[in-house]
Amino acid sequence: MENTKELDHSAHILRMVIPQMAKLHIPVTPENYAIWYEYFSESNLNLKRAIDGLLANEVRFTKQVNQGLYNNFIQEQSPEIIQNVQIETQILIKSLFNKIHQLNDETQGFAESLEGYNQQLQDNPTVGVLNEIIVNISSEVDLVISHNEEMKSNLNTLDFELSRLKEEMDNLSKVAMTDELTSLNNRRAYELFAVEQVAKFNQTQTVCSLLMIDIDLFKGFNDTYGHLIGDKVLAYVALSLKQGVKGADFVARYGGEEFVILLPGTDLQDAVTLANNLRELVSHKQLTVGKEKKQQLGKVTVSIGVASIQTGDDADTLLSRADEKLYEAKQAGRDCVKS
Ligand code: GH3
Ligand code: MG
Ligand code: MG
Repeated sequence: MENTKELDHSAHILRMVIPQMAKLHIPVTPENYAIWYEYFSESNLNLKRAIDGLLANEVRFTKQVNQGLYNNFIQEQSPEIIQNVQIETQILIKSLFNKIHQLNDETQGFAESLEGYNQQLQDNPTVGVLNEIIVNISSEVDLVISHNEEMKSNLNTLDFELSRLKEEMDNLSKVAMTDELTSLNNRRAYELFAVEQVAKFNQTQTVCSLLMIDIDLFKGFNDTYGHLIGDKVLAYVALSLKQGVKGADFVARYGGEEFVILLPGTDLQDAVTLANNLRELVSHKQLTVGKEKKQQLGKVTVSIGVASIQTGDDADTLLSRADEKLYEAKQAGRDCVKS
């Protein structure tokens, strides 16, 4: 029910969006669509104000202008856009079904006409009536054929739109879930995954452990070598963590110089062992930068807090237990694991 209402609402907005975009010669890409969807749904006042300003000044919606609107007002809210694209896909599917039903109705109508002509034929028609019947049948056949052709091209367009939307939807969700600097999952992706794991634990008692990892004395590192090199170190740690775990393990950058790893099916003891392996893997390497005049950076170490999901946990309580253990590891002198 809720879904139908949502669909009707977005279909209503869609009917305003598309003509307006056409009028302004704005290509209907998912990004541009998202901008104008937000504009007409009036859920984003800053965006509305910005666009009204552009319209009032008759500014052309060039590629750059569209890109700017997207970056400034939409990108931050990717989950909503994804939802909109999903709704748009639903609309397309709905319209596809309508068209298919329409086709059925037409064929149904054609069958009924044929039935009628058949009746007329049995009533000993005159040559004139016979002629009329033939003319009528052939024009109905033409109509069905031309509708069928139209249908075919409609279906092709829908098919194309659907696959394009699906592709864009996949891209959008990838962008929305990825940390740009390290290419790891970002915090949003982690939070979704953690909620899933807690639900799985509640249903099937499947254990799952969490590592919370923080680079030691990173501020000093930035202060000494600068932020750019700091960023490289972050990417190095991210890569080491990624390489040090198995396929099902979920590595994410939680924020700043903090990482989290969710380990589905791994109990506390095994998680601690893995944590120590990762800690050694990271600190093992003597880091250098520059090709010719190599600058020695020395070793980077991490502290790790470990916790496992327990009965009554939600994603927040799990995270705060791991965080407490991380704090203990820092107190204990860093470069160590606590659980
Ligand atoms: P501790 O061992 O207690 O964790 O010390 P710390 O210096 O690592 O901790 P603190 O929280 O005081 O500082 C974290 C530093 O991480 C602050 C900031 O300079 C650095 N940092 C956070 N995010 C980034 C980033 O994206 N790039 C770079 N280069 N540095 C970052
Ligand atoms: Mg920190
Ligand atoms: Mg730190």
